[in-house]
This record gives sequence, C-alpha cells and structure tokens, in this order.
Amino acid sequence: MSKKAKLPSSFKKLEDYFVDKISPLLDAKTIQILLVRQTHDFTVLRTEESRELNTVVVPENIESSKPTVKVAFLASKQKAVESRMFSRLLKTVKEHDCYLKDNLCMNCPRCALFGAVNTGGGRDYNIRHRVEYSTAFSIEKYEDLLETLTFNAIDEADQTTGQALNMTHNVRPLANFPSIITLTSVTWQEFSLLLKTLLASKSYGAETRVKGDVRNIILGIVGGYEEVLTSLEYSLELTADWEEDLPKTTEKILEKYKGLAATRGNITILTAEETAALIEAVQDMELDESFAKSMFDQVDDFVKVAKG
Ligand SMILES: [Zn+2]
Repeated sequence: MSKKAKLPSSFKKLEDYFVDKISPLLDAKTIQILLVRQTHDFTVLRTEESRELNTVVVPENIESSKPTVKVAFLASKQKAVESRMFSRLLKTVKEHDCYLKDNLCMNCPRCALFGAVNTGGGRDYNIRHRVEYSTAFSIEKYEDLLETLTFNAIDEADQTTGQALNMTHNVRPLANFPSIITLTSVTWQEFSLLLKTLLASKSYGAETRVKGDVRNIILGIVGGYEEVLTSLEYSLELTADWEEDLPKTTEKILEKYKGLAATRGNITILTAEETAALIEAVQDMELDESFAKSMFDQVDDFVKVAKG
C-alpha cells in the first residue's frame, strides 16, 4: 500500500497541498493552521532581559485604527515549546538521539520540519525549516491583562523568606492570542504530528520553574500556493468579531482573505465542520512506532537527496 493511500478521508480536501516526499527544494504548497492560544494561568510573556511584558501598539481592530496597546506572544516562545513537544512525542514511541539546541542530529523528523544548521562534525548540509511561526497579538488590551504579582524573595543560601518583595508582571488567565502557523511542502504525517503537538502543548512562558498553562484551540485550516493571511490580520479581525461563533467567524475571515489572494482558484478553505472532523481524525490517529517509523523513513530518503 502506498503512503498516499493511507491519507485519512477528512484530509482529502487538502490533498493537493501535501508532498509525498520531503525535498530540499521547496514548492509553494502551503497550509495555514489558525488557532487561539488561551492562557489558563498567570503567564509570563517577556524576553529574558526585561521584567516587563512584551507589548506592542496596534490598531484597536480591523474596523478601528485607534492605537491600542496589546500583549505580544512572541513567535520564538511558541516555537521553542512546540519544537520540544514534537520531538518528545516522537521520542516516546521511537528512541533516537537529538538534543536541542547543541546537538541536533539533522536526521530526525524534528530537524527535518523545524530546520537545523550544520554545526560542523562532517555534516555537509543544512536543513531549511518548513514550519513558520509569527507573533500572536492579544484580543484584550494590555491594561486589561496585566497582573502584577508580588512574592517574598527567598534567600538562596538558607531558604528563609526575606523581607524584600519581588514582583513579576503576568498575563492573567483567559487571555486570548489568535495565532497562525504556516507549513510549506509538508507530508500529511508531518501536518498530523504538528496538530497533535498543538493539542498536547499546554505550558508556555518565560519562567523555567513556573510555566503558564495555555490551551491551543484550533479554529481553521486553509491550503493554498501562498499564505492567505497574517497573524496580525487574524487578530484584528477576531477582535472585531469576538462575540461570535469562533470557528464560523474564522471560516468567514478566510473567505474574505481568499478574495485578496494572488491565485484565488488555488485556495481551499476547510469549513468549520470539516476542521472539527479533521481534528478528531488526528486525535484518533495512533501515535505508535509504525507512525514514527513512516516519518523517519521520509527523513532518510530526504537526507540521501540533501547529501547528494
Ligand atoms: Zn534531530
């Protein structure tokens, strides 16, 4: 049986946007996953150097250009967690050695999808990433999300509680970040494992000891030979229409941006119902050694070509 034959029926509508083989030469086959990342705990969204939350001034929503301060959930923060989870899910069912970031094997499905740079040691190729993240902007205004928590500093030496109060700036629970992940020239197995990764990842933020709970809610999927919309556009659109049914609203937004595409005829939008059915099929897909092996086989073929 060919790999194509095993394509789940709910994936059929996206068939034209998957590749059979991973190739170093990318084509334009693009799939975008639209989701909302919702905080379920106090979450620290900041860069390491500063104690402040990452903020940005953007228009209030798609209909109002009034400058508004929103919280930014940086692409690098999303990617770091999901790249690790993608790898961890695979490692659970099939043992292999690949360590972020210092000892990438350049030989596993994680390296093949998220990319890897040759760090010497006789490997003569780099792997270009085929998954792209972008900054997610909050639906809510910064002033409505900021929660400053104070705690007594602990003396490292004797573990006693000192007098000094420390402060952290957090995003409060139930903040919403519309987000888009863009995949280029991927196999259906890579797409499936990335969706499983999104559903499984629930811990984000800057602190290593205290990580904020986050749930990823997948709302829409679109295929094309180009990117259909940006994460900022999605956030501004959803902010204007937040009270509505989110999967239906997402479908409507996708229809609007299909109208702006370079080649409209090449764009395929999954309906809200089709998206839900596809997600269920991914949830029911076994994550076992044979699934992992099919992904490793694809990478082996790719590495042969990449090495020439
Ligand atoms: Zn690897």
